[in-house]
Amino acid sequence: MQSSRPPLCPSAQPGMVNCVAFGVIQGTSTEPRVAWIERPIPVTEDLLALTGPVPPTQVLRLAAPCQEDACCHFDGTDCQLAAKLVQILPSVVGSLPACQIRPDCRWFRQEGNAACERCPQIVTYYVNPTEELSWAATP
Ligand code: SF4
Repeated sequence: MQSSRPPLCPSAQPGMVNCVAFGVIQGTSTEPRVAWIERPIPVTEDLLALTGPVPPTQVLRLAAPCQEDACCHFDGTDCQLAAKLVQILPSVVGSLPACQIRPDCRWFRQEGNAACERCPQIVTYYVNPTEELSWAATP
């Protein structure tokens, strides 16, 4: 169910206002999988320090209010990153992940279940992205 609240970006950066951690990257470097946090945690300096020496976005999935026109992926209506990810990536789950931000997630609002079926393989800071991910991340 969607809410009337402003949408959240589910691949946010730690410096964004009202940022929360909602997932932890598990799996392997070639096959990452997000484990969803039962209750999203506000991002603090202490939390970010825990991921050192790697960048927080290599370990955590963060959400924050969508920056819309300030983001290179927003075309004025849609998040083109979400649109591309749904277009090029395979579904990796048989049912929707237990994600706590779903009612507010921009990707879900825009792409529906297809976004959630692909989301578990998304790492915001990917060290060796595949060609497909590089293409998707290029505005
Ligand atoms: S796309 Fe789906 S699984 Fe991913 S953050 Fe949004 S609601 Fe959660």
